[in-house]
Amino acid sequence: MYSILKLKCPRCHEGNLFLTKNPYSYKNIDRMPDVCPVCEQKYWPEPGFFYGAMYVSYALTIALSVAVFVAMIVLWHFDVLWYLGLNAAAIILLFPPIFRVSRAVWFNLFVSYKTPEERTVSAQEKA
Ligand SMILES: [Zn+2]
Repeated sequence: MYSILKLKCPRCHEGNLFLTKNPYSYKNIDRMPDVCPVCEQKYWPEPGFFYGAMYVSYALTIALSVAVFVAMIVLWHFDVLWYLGLNAAAIILLFPPIFRVSRAVWFNLFVSYKTPEERTVSAQEKA
């Protein structure tokens, strides 16, 4: 959870997953370093690796749409046209953080956390 919410490397929880902190910098929204600057974990393990993040993004967007729906019923009243407009606005406004969190979730499914000691041992085994 820490590495997902902070957008950190899933292996060391220290290196940043993205080159820029601001997700709303659209030019750099998907720019990631090739490897983690701290533990040298490859950030692009295979071609097309992050296509799978689209499934995570879809699930998060559905959750957001349900949240908007429930919020409208609880706080106001339900109206289809207002719902379509508010939901579209919420999805467009929150697309950049959803995009990045989706990549972090997808990456965390395949790479698990290792303590600094465990990382040193596995680096020595490689050598
Ligand atoms: Zn790392």
